Amino acid sequence: MTFRGGIHTPEEKDRTKGLPIQTAPLPPKVVIPLSQHSGAVCEPVVNKGDVVKKGQKIGEGKGPVTSTIHSSLSGKVVDISPHPHPFGSSVLSVVIESDGKDEWTPVLKENEDYLSFDTQKLKEIVREAGIVGLGGAQFPTHVKLSPPDGNGIEYVILNGAECEPFVTSDHRLMVEKSSEIIEGLNIIIKILSAKKGFIGIEKNKPDAISTFNSQLSRPTIVGTPNSQLEVVDLNIKYPQGSEKQLIKSIVNREVPADKLPVDIGVVVNNVGTAYAVYEAVRYGKPLIERVITITGNGVKEPRNLLVRIGTSFDFLIQNCGGFAGEPEKVIMGGPMMGIAQYTLDVPVIKGTSGIVVFLKESTSPHPSLQRRGLRGDEYLPCIRCGRCIDSCPMGISPNLYGLYAERGMIEGGRDFIDEAQKWDVMDCIECGICSYVCPSNRPLVQFIKYLKSEVKKKTKNGKR
Ligand code: SF4
Ligand code: SF4
Repeated sequence: MTFRGGIHTPEEKDRTKGLPIQTAPLPPKVVIPLSQHSGAVCEPVVNKGDVVKKGQKIGEGKGPVTSTIHSSLSGKVVDISPHPHPFGSSVLSVVIESDGKDEWTPVLKENEDYLSFDTQKLKEIVREAGIVGLGGAQFPTHVKLSPPDGNGIEYVILNGAECEPFVTSDHRLMVEKSSEIIEGLNIIIKILSAKKGFIGIEKNKPDAISTFNSQLSRPTIVGTPNSQLEVVDLNIKYPQGSEKQLIKSIVNREVPADKLPVDIGVVVNNVGTAYAVYEAVRYGKPLIERVITITGNGVKEPRNLLVRIGTSFDFLIQNCGGFAGEPEKVIMGGPMMGIAQYTLDVPVIKGTSGIVVFLKESTSPHPSLQRRGLRGDEYLPCIRCGRCIDSCPMGISPNLYGLYAERGMIEGGRDFIDEAQKWDVMDCIECGICSYVCPSNRPLVQFIKYLKSEVKKKTKNGKR
């Protein structure tokens, strides 16, 4: 089974897919933004000059949708002020200088008997650990694990598709930590009282698929009968890892416009999130580190690294041998949905799956991948070729949005915003395919982001 539209991008994963995860060295300092999640920004709970330990809480949010933030090393708080954030703005951040000792906070608690915990206690541990969706969305996991009353969850899907070109962090985690990921899935199934769990993996990761299959062939898996768990090998197609497309491919259900997976009885989590849930519940570890891939033709020694949240891109690229020439573009995430960076003085955040560096376009084997997201690039008028419409996985009309956005920006007409909303611009998942396939190099995703922000200004969260 598969979803409509989609494309086959160059994979470009060979540089790192066979490289075991290494632990990045201790950085001299970390810059930890107090916003690394959807919802309310955290308030600092430490002051400049405080001595902190690794795993100590340094930020806490208020309200139903927020998350907590912890120190990723031991040392001294030397600054609390706005710093560059990989999403492009400046965000209030806690700067901690390492004391070189890397000491854990003493309040962490191992839980050998976690299988006896009730649902509420498990959710509380996930909330306190500051776990958010590690696939990039950064939605607080404890909120995802608390569906509104009456929303019976049938299926939990772990997303191991990793369809973004270049990035291999989930692939390596699945190969090296499969039993921990399965235990994380079991905890999520228990919290949601779900009937079945799936692990969806693209077919280009046969080693990960066979690792999980051999784990599931054991007589018992902690907490859940084997019959309730299934590995699904997915077609290699972008954006296979997008939530709605993954659900269609695995359980053949469609998430209606304006609805969430939870409304059709499904919860999707990234495999890295399930691993973080296990680490928090079993060992009391808050989310202070994650695996990322540093790669691209612009990096001398590409790697998969276990990295502390708050480590600067500059430090990590230097740790990978530095640039392999003159870089043109540094992206957080993959080239399709990632965000181009204007400085290397930005930190790894919870949603960072990779850092991809491209050299000048003339040296790139895939200029259309490299072109994605470049600011100020030249583009041409729409020639109505229809490629963007044919490839769009949401079945919407990117060419129209481009025209509406251009006219709206030039003529200032509010009607164009209304028209875009009428033609379902809010359904766009910002996968980047339309920009990728457009022969006129039109920055359709940027146009769409503009229209969506205008619609949100006019309406309550973009809903009609
Ligand atoms: S970015 Fe949006 S409009 Fe473009 S192909 Fe993806 S879902 Fe469709
Ligand atoms: S792919 Fe580009 S040129 Fe073709 S219809 Fe879409 S916007 Fe127009």
